[in-house]
Amino acid sequence: MSSNKILVTGGCGYIGSHTTLLLFEAGFDVVVVDNLANSSKESLRRVEQLSGKTVELYQLDVRDNDALTAVFAKHEFKAVIHFAGLKAVGESTEIPLDYYDQNISGTINLLKVMQQFNCYQIVFSSSATVYGDPASVPITEDFPTSATNPYGRTKLFVEEILRDLSRADDQWHVIMLRYFNPIGAHQSGLIGEQPQGIPNNLMPFISQVAAGKRDKLSIFGGDYSTPDGTGIRDYIHVMDLSDAHVKAIHKIDGLVGTTTLNIGTGNGYSVLEMVHTFEEVTGVFVAHEIVERRAGDIAECWAEPKLASSVLGWKAKLNLNDMMTDTWRWQKDNPDGF
Ligand code: NAD
Ligand code: UDP
Repeated sequence: MSSNKILVTGGCGYIGSHTTLLLFEAGFDVVVVDNLANSSKESLRRVEQLSGKTVELYQLDVRDNDALTAVFAKHEFKAVIHFAGLKAVGESTEIPLDYYDQNISGTINLLKVMQQFNCYQIVFSSSATVYGDPASVPITEDFPTSATNPYGRTKLFVEEILRDLSRADDQWHVIMLRYFNPIGAHQSGLIGEQPQGIPNNLMPFISQVAAGKRDKLSIFGGDYSTPDGTGIRDYIHVMDLSDAHVKAIHKIDGLVGTTTLNIGTGNGYSVLEMVHTFEEVTGVFVAHEIVERRAGDIAECWAEPKLASSVLGWKAKLNLNDMMTDTWRWQKDNPDGF
């Protein structure tokens, strides 16, 4: 019988912890590797609490060949879901070598070890950032790709590496999921996103202002060519995003070569709509002011998610109100994170 065990790299992190929970609920066994660079073990303890299952965690760096080899020697994996990597755009412009090393060398090392152990199925965390500044919206998977910062380039390069690999060897089954903007948290309020320091992303910033941890939200630009002048994004609930991974694992046996899919809702919301919806849903005021645009930001970006629907049978089910309610529950119940 083939293995039912999934290796989740970066499984202690935001998306990895939610996906680990859903994998358990779908009946898979899960092994996690994570170096805890941007997370804590507590997230998995809470996944265990929610699932009633035990997670085997190996604290290691995906660049460490010996350590990763030892994990593969011990377990037979059906597939790998590869979340591990660094993700802060601003930081990537300051320490590009770290980003290239962790995100690209880390992935190459993982792929070599997978090959050595005849594990040829991988789901990779890509990003809508690979579309650069899209010529129009909604964005389909065949849009041209580009990058404006080292983080985005690591996603582009890894996508190319995975394409080259599956062209060279048809044993590979590669699913690259291009995430739009993940927000929200598990409905229990037990797991969620824990940004280190000052949040770069909109949603954790809004919830920290609402919680009184920050004075006010700076809205980056009020003069974009959008209906209210603020930037528009496709926000997707982390539970829907995690569900896309489980569906990808269910389908991966039949998907030879590379499959590239947008994972978004197909709806765009402006920054002001996000602030106002949060206020309506939670009843909590979010102080804000419009400031200069942030360098590198684009006006609008949302997905055409039809391909994921036809290939995976996946669709986002949760709406913006759910995203706000769940973000706020997580923030209130865990004011200082895990
Ligand atoms: P996260 O930082 O919460 O999770 C990443 C996990 O990987 C962390 O637990 C971290 O400790 C671990 N890690 C980092 N480098 C590692 C290494 N070298 N070896 C082992 N473990 C390592 O981030 P997330 O939001 O859960 O994102 C997961 C993946 O999705 C990342 O690859 C990210 O680039 C990608 N992604 C995220 C978003 C987003 O907005 N959150 C959007 C698009 C794509
Ligand atoms: N944004 C903002 N203030 C913040 C953080 C983000 O106005 O403190 C805006 C940003 O300009 C963009 C949207 O919110 O229009 C989403 O930004 P985020 O960093 O969350 O995701 P991105 O799409 O940039 O990856």
